[in-house]
Amino acid sequence: MKARAFCDLLSVGAPFLKRALAPWVTRRNSIALIRPGILSGYLMSVRTLLLLIFAVPALLVGAAMASGAVIPVPQWGRDYVLRFVFEPNTLRLDLPAIEGPDDPDRPLVVIDAGHGGRDPGTVGSSSGGGSEVLEKDIVLALSLALRDQLIEEGGIRVALTRSDDTIVTLAQRPEIARQLGADLFLSIHADSAGERSDVAGASIYTLSTQASSEAAARFAERENAADALNGITIDGQSAEVSAILVELSQQRTQDDATEFAALIEREGEGRVRFHPQTRRAAELAVLRAPDVPGVLFESGFVTNSDDRARLTTDEGRQEYAEVLARAIRVYFARRAGQ
Ligand SMILES: [Zn+2]
Repeated sequence: MKARAFCDLLSVGAPFLKRALAPWVTRRNSIALIRPGILSGYLMSVRTLLLLIFAVPALLVGAAMASGAVIPVPQWGRDYVLRFVFEPNTLRLDLPAIEGPDDPDRPLVVIDAGHGGRDPGTVGSSSGGGSEVLEKDIVLALSLALRDQLIEEGGIRVALTRSDDTIVTLAQRPEIARQLGADLFLSIHADSAGERSDVAGASIYTLSTQASSEAAARFAERENAADALNGITIDGQSAEVSAILVELSQQRTQDDATEFAALIEREGEGRVRFHPQTRRAAELAVLRAPDVPGVLFESGFVTNSDDRARLTTDEGRQEYAEVLARAIRVYFARRAGQ
């Protein structure tokens, strides 16, 4: 704003402000921030007040722009910690093929490579300032390696939410697992720590209890008409009973997810580098299916050179694939023994 225009604004604005603040305006055209007589030193002219209202924010923004400063936004986990968004109706999906043994009694794991298509996920640059590495590529290669490992070992059916560079919405991912009747869901991601290249290691996320409970409540609302969860038919039940049944199913699902997370940690010991805070819980949209235990595996930081080397080489990927495949196998073996 030009200085002249600003002066005009002051002359026009001052009388309005004076009227609005009449009880506080003193005879000398000043505004008492504390009523006069109590502390007469706190006086400010109407013009000064107007100046403060208009000029201070403009100066702050101007100073920030001039210095090139940006408002810092947390980088960690920005791509997957989301509020729950439930689709009003069941999603119509092109379900992926199930690979492995042609036997519906065999357990089914759905592997979910994060991001894809126009969503690259987090971006890291390779050491020496070379080409960029994209999370969507890293996690797809990791997911394919895990699928190959599971198929090679046999006995477990596998489906991928995406097997190429296509986009799958967050809502579709757990829904694919549900509609395929999956026994386990594993979402694979890679993380970024922004400028902090020293931050490294994998983490394992499960749905937070609060989020899990909310998801159960909303799921009950949505699916109240007819559905079956963990073999409990909720069709025809009252809303309250349905909500309780979904809550119970959700609780069991979360217990299973927690057990699977612990197995990944156990099997990865000495083979996968873990972040000091290995196990975490968060509101993760992809883990919201109330009847399919799900875990989100943050494989490492693309912003750390060691992690990046592990995540982008065949040997590194193979190590991850073997650890995750073993955790999945032990998880299903325990279920079969129950
Ligand atoms: Zn991600």
